Amino acid sequence: MRRPVYCASHPPDPLMMSWRHWSTCKVCRRWPTAILCPACRQRWDQPILRCSHCADHAHATDPAGHACPLNPRHLWREAAARMDYATPCDQWIKRLKFGADWTQARDLARLLNECAPAQRLRAQADLILPMPISDTRLRERGYNQAALLARHWCGRDPRLHIDWLIKHRHTPAQAQADRAQRLQQLEGTLSWGTPTRLHKLRGARVLLVDDVMTTGATLDIASSVLLQTGVAQVDVVVFARTPSPLGAGPGGGLHSPHVSNRPGPP
Ligand SMILES: [Zn+2]
Ligand SMILES: [Zn+2]
Repeated sequence: MRRPVYCASHPPDPLMMSWRHWSTCKVCRRWPTAILCPACRQRWDQPILRCSHCADHAHATDPAGHACPLNPRHLWREAAARMDYATPCDQWIKRLKFGADWTQARDLARLLNECAPAQRLRAQADLILPMPISDTRLRERGYNQAALLARHWCGRDPRLHIDWLIKHRHTPAQAQADRAQRLQQLEGTLSWGTPTRLHKLRGARVLLVDDVMTTGATLDIASSVLLQTGVAQVDVVVFARTPSPLGAGPGGGLHSPHVSNRPGPP
C-alpha cells in the first residue's frame, strides 16, 4: 500500500487512516491519533514558508522563496526541511541521536512524508545518499540516524545507498562551532567511497538526507565532494532546520522566529 502524502495545512483525518498509522501523539500522548493530534499540530506544527535554496524561513526580500539572498550561496541547488529545530522537534532529534531511541526515525520519516518540497526533491533524484557519521560515532551510537531516517522515508527504494558517502575521520561535536569553524573541522573528512561507483555518480542528480541542518557546513562539504566527482546537481532534505538570523531575525523572515521560545509542551 502506498503511503499517503499529507499537506501540513490539511492534517489527515484519523478515520481515513489505516490502523497501522495510528499512534499516540508525539507531544501530548493522546490516543489514538496520527503522530501529532490536531491540537498539537495547531500549536507546534504551523506551516512555514521556506526559502527553496537554504530551507530557512522565507526571506523578507524574497517572499516566494526562490531567490535566496545568501552570498555566497550553498553548493547545493535546493533544500527542504520539515520543521524548525525548536520545541518539540529538538527533543525528538536529541532522543534519536543521544538517547538510543531509534524508533524516532520512523516517526520523523512519517512526518517528512507530509513535506511536499521534500517529496518533490526525492522524486527528482537519481541517487539518495544519507549523510555519514564516523566509525567512532557509529560505535558510540549504534546506528547512523540520517541513514535510519532515510531508510524509513524511502523504504526499499533502489536509489537509496546508505554507505556511498563515508566519513573517514572523527571530528568533535560541533554544537558551539560557527560555520567557518565547522568548515575547517570537516575539510577532507568526507569521501564517496570506491571508484567503481564513479560512473554512477557522474551526471546524476543526488539527494542528500540528514536529520538536522544548522549552518549547512557539513552538507556543503558533502556537496563539494560530490560535485568534484561530476554529479549534475545536489539537493538536500533535512528533517529539521535551525532558523538563522538571516532568515528569521528581525526584518528577515515572514514568520515568527520565536517558535523555540514558546512554553514547553505539556
Ligand atoms: Zn497532541
Ligand atoms: Zn535562502
